Amino acid sequence: MSAGDNAECGTQCQEALAQLERYLDGELPNTTLDEIKTHLAACYPCTDRASFEEQLRAIVRRDCVDAPPPSLLVRIREHLATVHIEG
Ligand SMILES: [Zn+2]
Repeated sequence: MSAGDNAECGTQCQEALAQLERYLDGELPNTTLDEIKTHLAACYPCTDRASFEEQLRAIVRRDCVDAPPPSLLVRIREHLATVHIEG
């Protein structure tokens, strides 16, 4: 295991982010869960993204009684990502 290094950020991040929803839902098997946790511990952008997704879910749960359509989530996500990332 090498120390967290942004140069390694790439495929691992894509895999981690691809599992993020299931990670937040607690649906991942322990082996995958450990991999995600290990990655998040070493990768600040993914940690940031995970907490962002978590907050987004909390907002959606609070404001919408019914489950929002995935398209809405995508639009919120894209909007916030645009605001969040500068330059
Ligand atoms: Zn990452």
